[in-house]
Amino acid sequence: MMVDETLHGLVERRLREVSQRYTSGRKAVVEVLANAGHPLSIEDIGELAPRLPRSSAYRHLVDLQQCGVVRRVAANDDYYRFELAEDITEHHHHLMCTLCGKVIDVTPTPAFERAMANYLDDLSTSNGFASIDHRLDVLGACATCRQRKLAATAGCAG
Ligand SMILES: [Zn+2]
Ligand SMILES: [Zn+2]
Repeated sequence: MMVDETLHGLVERRLREVSQRYTSGRKAVVEVLANAGHPLSIEDIGELAPRLPRSSAYRHLVDLQQCGVVRRVAANDDYYRFELAEDITEHHHHLMCTLCGKVIDVTPTPAFERAMANYLDDLSTSNGFASIDHRLDVLGACATCRQRKLAATAGCAG
């Protein structure tokens, strides 16, 4: 997503609502996430913003998460990443590698989204539940990990 004054203005307003300031550190974290365009681990953020100490990066992420700017994305308990909230970027889904934690953003077709939303609405209504939104993460193995697995298997056989 574009890193511009619209993005910064939006984040600043959201922080102000909870009496927080949009400090340069928080701004750096938001910029790294927006520029990457996919969920980042703490290690990724450390590499992309080397001047930001990891401990403060983590603190900023937690603060930004609390005011709804950042969302935590987890493949499992060992791997988690961060991305900007969907209402700031756009609605999407994730392909998550449970072996290395890699997360790929995917955007299904509008027809898929409509069909799924209708179906989930029906399921919700029949349970007396009012649905607002949905999340769908696909768990599996990424291309790199699959390749590695194949190589390892070949190694054993040979
Ligand atoms: Zn992987
Ligand atoms: Zn969806």
